[in-house]
Amino acid sequence: MTLDMLLYALIVLATVVAMEGFAWGMHKFVMHGQSGWGWHQSHHEETEGLFEKNDLYAVVFSVFAIGLFFLGHYLSPVVLAVAWGITLYGLLYFIAHDGLVHQRWPFRYVPHKGYAKRLVQAHRLHHAVEGRDHCVSFGFLYAPPIDKLKAELRRSGVLDRERIERSVTSQGSAHAPVRD
Ligand SMILES: [Zn+2]
Ligand SMILES: [Zn+2]
Repeated sequence: MTLDMLLYALIVLATVVAMEGFAWGMHKFVMHGQSGWGWHQSHHEETEGLFEKNDLYAVVFSVFAIGLFFLGHYLSPVVLAVAWGITLYGLLYFIAHDGLVHQRWPFRYVPHKGYAKRLVQAHRLHHAVEGRDHCVSFGFLYAPPIDKLKAELRRSGVLDRERIERSVTSQGSAHAPVRD
């Protein structure tokens, strides 16, 4: 492997890490904020059909990545490496979020151990609360410890202990919170 290739591989990896930070901020402050909730709301409620309005975010990011591929092709391999990093993040996001958590793929696989299990449980807790306020765990590839998230939910006082526990192990129909 040449030094150049190693450098580009590092840029791809750094972009994936940076994208998780960016996605966390987008999710917490834009999608759960006044301006972005209009699209994201569909992802916190029961929806019919294969697609939800929230998927438009993925479309926007894909268009952005495609633009970077074009730019990179003409301008610089560094930009190209960034475009690959965003694409790889999109793929990991799809596997972790749409696949493992929300089962939007044609087979059923729910991880029962290790980090993948924690990732799924943390995101179920993200969906435990009705509406856009008091939600926890906004990352998609990084999941805080489950006990920490449970404590955070208890502190906000919007859910009782029993419903928090049920939210860890199951989710409501589609991606709505578990209800009584
Ligand atoms: Zn959300
Ligand atoms: Zn989700």
